Amino acid sequence: MEPGTDAEKCFREKLHSLKRELEQLLTDSAASSRPVDLNLSIGRLSRVDALQQQAMAKANREGHQRRLVLVDAALMALKRGRYGLCRSCEEPITVKRLEARPETPFCLDCQAQREK
Ligand SMILES: [Zn+2]
Repeated sequence: MEPGTDAEKCFREKLHSLKRELEQLLTDSAASSRPVDLNLSIGRLSRVDALQQQAMAKANREGHQRRLVLVDAALMALKRGRYGLCRSCEEPITVKRLEARPETPFCLDCQAQREK
């Protein structure tokens, strides 16, 4: 994507707001993913519940963290004028895909390959 174009500015803004959103989510979820205190005097079932919830919160956080890494990488790519190019085959990623997931590092074909 050409630096200084409207499209580039638009994606830069998208990425920055996504970054803020993810950072907020990580801050908000920091408390809920703390290890469960097994000495807490709660029943066995609610303890299982608490462990499950904690595991889910942890998985969510890891997803957010991974996404944040991709957002940062995409912002770096923008700076270098490489944004929107697939990191694997170097073909341009479709705008439609970038609009859905502005942080994506791969085109649809390469993403599908990797998920196999
Ligand atoms: Zn590709």
